[in-house]
Amino acid sequence: MNAMRKIRDVSEFLGGRGITSAEREAELIIRRGLGMDAVTIYRDDPSLTEVNEEFVSEMALRRSMREPLQYILGSVDFMGLEISVGKGVLIPRPETELLVEQAVKIAHSYQLSAISKELTILDLCTGSGCIALALASEFRNARVLGVDISDDALSYAIKNAEINGILNASFIKGDLFKPLSPNLSFDLIISNPPYIKSGDISSLQPEISEWEPLNALDGGHDGLLLYRKTILAACDFLNDKGMLIFELGAGCAEDVVSLMKSAGYINIETMKDYAGIERIVSARWTR
Ligand code: GLN
Repeated sequence: MNAMRKIRDVSEFLGGRGITSAEREAELIIRRGLGMDAVTIYRDDPSLTEVNEEFVSEMALRRSMREPLQYILGSVDFMGLEISVGKGVLIPRPETELLVEQAVKIAHSYQLSAISKELTILDLCTGSGCIALALASEFRNARVLGVDISDDALSYAIKNAEINGILNASFIKGDLFKPLSPNLSFDLIISNPPYIKSGDISSLQPEISEWEPLNALDGGHDGLLLYRKTILAACDFLNDKGMLIFELGAGCAEDVVSLMKSAGYINIETMKDYAGIERIVSARWTR
């Protein structure tokens, strides 16, 4: 069978199983199955070998069971880095690119690099390592540490550092600050913590609730558990004038801001994402 016909078949199959962007996904699956770019496929309409056909059918079947396309294709682009993903690790989201962009601006504008000779960054709940690696690649003179409680996530983070040839980021396993030696301190602490309310998880789309790791999603009964813990403990690990930056779950900005205020942070600022949702909060710690 030829590629164009296969795209139509797979698209119909996925559409029939309730996948909304079936056509685009079918194209991506066929492209992966053939190992060709879109231009070649649309220009040459190549025919699929038996091996191609089997590979494509297997991917389409996986997708019909609501496995996220990103897991099936095996990687996503995050700030120009190739981030390998699969079962056991959260798929990086576009909002998180915004978080990194903001962190880069903040790090530049507060000239954190001038505070200590070598910029030090801590990324909590690092998951695939996307945030840690994007910052390490932006600030080549920085030392970036990523922490995650999950072995699966950490193995992706370490692999992602290798894939992208990033040498100034390292990863350790543990629960937030627990694995850190108390004499460590950072200019920037960043985190995209799990922030979905426990009770809301089952109502998310199956690609998320049935496939992505629960411990990367579940933020406790009010979604704030990890913010609370991090805000309180971060003070002991921030350098003077160091910054704490979070990605925020929809609707939790006000609560997180007030947690930061009562903990004594200053210069608390929030920023909206492209959908108009307060998505990022940053604050400064002074000793
Ligand atoms: N830091 C990773 C990301 O932003 C994982 C976040 C998490 O596990 N909640 O994609």
